[in-house]
Amino acid sequence: MGSLTLVKPNLHLVDVEARRMLFHVPTSGLFELDDLSREMIELFSGQKEVSAPQLRERFDGRFSAADVVDTLEEFKTLKIVADADLVAANKAQINIEPQPVTQFPLTTIVLNTNTGCNLSCTYCYKEDLTTPSKGDKMSYETAVQSVEMMLKESPDQRQYNVVFFGGEPLSNLPLIRNVVAYCEERFASLEADVSFTMTTNATLLNEKLVDWLNEHRFGLTISMDGPKAMHDKNRITVGGQGTYEVVKKKAQMLLSRYNARPVGCRVTLTRGITDVEAVFDHLYGELGFTEVGFGPVTSGDISSFNLTGDEMVEVFEGMKRLGRKYLAAALDGKNMGFGNMHMLMTDIHEGNKKQLPCGAGVGLLAVDTKGGINLCHRFTGSDQALFGDVSEGLDKPALAEFVETRLDRTETGCETCRIRNICSGGCYHESYAKYGDATVPSYHYCDLLRDWVDFGVEAYTRIMLENPGFFEAHVSPRRSA
Ligand code: SF4
Ligand code: SF4
Repeated sequence: MGSLTLVKPNLHLVDVEARRMLFHVPTSGLFELDDLSREMIELFSGQKEVSAPQLRERFDGRFSAADVVDTLEEFKTLKIVADADLVAANKAQINIEPQPVTQFPLTTIVLNTNTGCNLSCTYCYKEDLTTPSKGDKMSYETAVQSVEMMLKESPDQRQYNVVFFGGEPLSNLPLIRNVVAYCEERFASLEADVSFTMTTNATLLNEKLVDWLNEHRFGLTISMDGPKAMHDKNRITVGGQGTYEVVKKKAQMLLSRYNARPVGCRVTLTRGITDVEAVFDHLYGELGFTEVGFGPVTSGDISSFNLTGDEMVEVFEGMKRLGRKYLAAALDGKNMGFGNMHMLMTDIHEGNKKQLPCGAGVGLLAVDTKGGINLCHRFTGSDQALFGDVSEGLDKPALAEFVETRLDRTETGCETCRIRNICSGGCYHESYAKYGDATVPSYHYCDLLRDWVDFGVEAYTRIMLENPGFFEAHVSPRRSA
């Protein structure tokens, strides 16, 4: 046996009281270490390389030779240890070889119903945003072509999703109604299920409309940024008035009569707003949203809205405090509705071994008002080149090239990162906004992300050991985006 070394990017150790657990990064698997494996990890952790005589010296007389060999072989199979020379030469092959991309199993299509919005949120990233009346509206024909393109690319799925996005999607309600009618008939004829999803600013909701959405079982997310002072800082009307009062009233009306699916809330955190606990307490505790998720802005076009480095530290500290409450609730069998933590638990639990950060470009595509095909909703109206058009079809070579570039981690910072199978280089749109290139990983807050995922692995381990039934009861398959 040549010298072996620990492959640090492949493992994460977690102590839960007296138990030592190993989180295996490539598979997101969790193993409890016995005395021998625990001591072997300690030996490898304490020095750069370990030779056969060193192993014998350490374990002879205390563990059987067969057990030592078995444990070592298991570690090698898991690529927790590997030949020291290979690791030094970066040839230990800890990542899956990228394969050519030939299939696009689309199950989610995002329709940009209108580039217009009736609000004028100061931080809005949409490059083509305008008022509803001046906005470009998607035609029914384009929407139908989009749905048909999805079916053509992946005809044999059981479940499809149609997402309505904007601007403000409800500012093109006639299109939404027509598309829902079309899809319900079309997918029923294929004996497939279709679900509808929408993120809205809530201002155009009324009781009749809510009942219609309920009837068609929309998955709804409301954009709201917290208590009045925080919400009104940025979420304003075209005339400059804060919208908190109207959004709160509409949200309460929605929450009081909507029962088809849980209603979530999406919070945008911008400069000066870092108190995630106060925001969560208001939206979850006082208003009653089922789930609240936070989107910190770090690379928006208007840099004065981006959170500073110190603010990002505060945000993650607050998220960890909320995460501890989530953990306590989970140990008690309850899902506390903290979206970011729940998504992290879902990712770890499903052992996604994510090679890509999200479904954009593979399971999900977004169509702009003119029929242009984009990676996801955040790219519609941007300068990023399109991947075809719904009337002409998907530009598969261009899309394959993009996805293959992101799949290949060679010589990127992600290659040996311990959270590479959860972060996968981060959101394409963040990279595009930050570097003007969606193929580059978004490196700008990696240390904070690693710390957040480490925190998540520890919380996950505790839930697995103390109340594993939580996952069965509360974790459903991950959404595409
Ligand atoms: S972007 Fe940063 S945190 Fe994410 S996988 Fe790459 S190196 Fe790791
Ligand atoms: S993570 Fe980024 S690229 Fe992926 S769907 Fe969301 S916004 Fe788009």
